[in-house]
Amino acid sequence: MNYISTRGDAPTLNFEDTLLAGLARDGGLYVPEQWPTLDAAALRRLQGRPYPEVAAAVMRLFVGDTLTPAELQDIVDQAYARFRHHSVAPLVQIGPDEWVMELWHGPTLAFKDVAMQVLARLYDHALAKRDQTLTIVGATSGDTGSAAIEAVRGRERACIFIMHPHGRTSEVQRRQMTTVLDNNVHNLAIEGTFDDCQDILKSLFNDHAFRDEVSLSGVNSINWARVLPQVVYYVTAALSLGLDRPPVFAVPTGNFGDVFAGYVATKLGLPVRRLLVATNVNDILWRTLSAGDHSLAGVTPTMSPSMDIQVSSNFERLLFDLYKRDPRKIASMMAQLKENRKFEISKDALQQASDLFAAERVDEAETLAMIGQVYRETEYLIDPHTAVGVAAYRRFKAAQGSNFRGPGVMLSTAHPAKFPDAVERATGVRPPLPEEMADLYEREERYDVLPADVQAVKDYILGKRR
Ligand SMILES: *Cc1c(COP(=O)(O)O)cnc(C)c1O
Repeated sequence: MNYISTRGDAPTLNFEDTLLAGLARDGGLYVPEQWPTLDAAALRRLQGRPYPEVAAAVMRLFVGDTLTPAELQDIVDQAYARFRHHSVAPLVQIGPDEWVMELWHGPTLAFKDVAMQVLARLYDHALAKRDQTLTIVGATSGDTGSAAIEAVRGRERACIFIMHPHGRTSEVQRRQMTTVLDNNVHNLAIEGTFDDCQDILKSLFNDHAFRDEVSLSGVNSINWARVLPQVVYYVTAALSLGLDRPPVFAVPTGNFGDVFAGYVATKLGLPVRRLLVATNVNDILWRTLSAGDHSLAGVTPTMSPSMDIQVSSNFERLLFDLYKRDPRKIASMMAQLKENRKFEISKDALQQASDLFAAERVDEAETLAMIGQVYRETEYLIDPHTAVGVAAYRRFKAAQGSNFRGPGVMLSTAHPAKFPDAVERATGVRPPLPEEMADLYEREERYDVLPADVQAVKDYILGKRR
């Protein structure tokens, strides 16, 4: 299995080199050269199997010969041994044929752990094999950073630099990053938005001399190995609801990584009725999928900060397929986006996308109301990101009329205790942190504030990396 860049001007790589590269050298994103498939019989054989076994069976299709089946199984087993729920991604029913998929049983209480715990172990394996070290950089709107730091802390062959927008993450999110004091962990509070952090990140990767000097790698979902482990829970959810009842998956979306993983699951052959892209008021993906309008607007802070994004990097991977894998077309659209802050999607491409994708936009009042509504109906607490998914699903379902058939699976991307203020405002209940994190507010913090400036960040990394 080889990987090619969406912009057509970077070397073709195997899985391991793709993992270590992160972003392609031409600024594009790596995608599999062709989509592997699992036939119906193979899918059925996975029904009822433990999560790590399904994970290895799915990921095996993508890693080629860079890992033996036993090595892959071992990595996956270790990654999920730390989760607080043995099913890893359990389904909880909140209404007739409405299921919440809890993806936050990992160490940092958000779904990013599902991929990051695997990614860190894939890095370890590859770096040990090559006797190499790595400088990992990431930009985070909150959850990627803590999940990456938690996965990489204390590892000998990697140091990690995480940029977060100063003052724009929740306190729990910030503390989960800044209270990790291992000396291979560096937190950079950037004076700007998440998109500024992401721009700096892209500039670091596009400076090839710097990139090679420090052996740069990325843990954002531009890294293919970040997306891949997320394919698995779409498979386990569909399997447990029965393959003859293709679900609608409602996915709270920012960078399009998680919902792209759902798309990959459909490419494998998983029966899925719809992938519902749920955005907050930072709605570029809703405008794109409903009207073909991909134009950048300012970022508005919301109570679901992990989706306060306008530059939705992973959307490029879908565009690549929508435009029949023509890298010149993608390169030119991305150049347009950079120059004019927008591009338009052709009717054809949009039509094709709408066979599988739908989109809803959920504002702040609806988000808050949905947290309250679900709590009153079921005494179940959901965080604001999850609430965006639930609200989107219920609106979508209502619009389909009485012929609509579920099931609906709403991805719950964060534990309610990660966003306690919003949850308390909506329900009057302040969700407690799990026991092992109960002292988070007392722990010592460490981070440095930097301007939103590429050179400042480069100098910082050069000074601190080992
Ligand atoms: C990262 C994140 C999202 C958005 O995921 P994408 O893959 O960027 O679309 C949604 N909810 C939470 C809690 C997150 O941490």
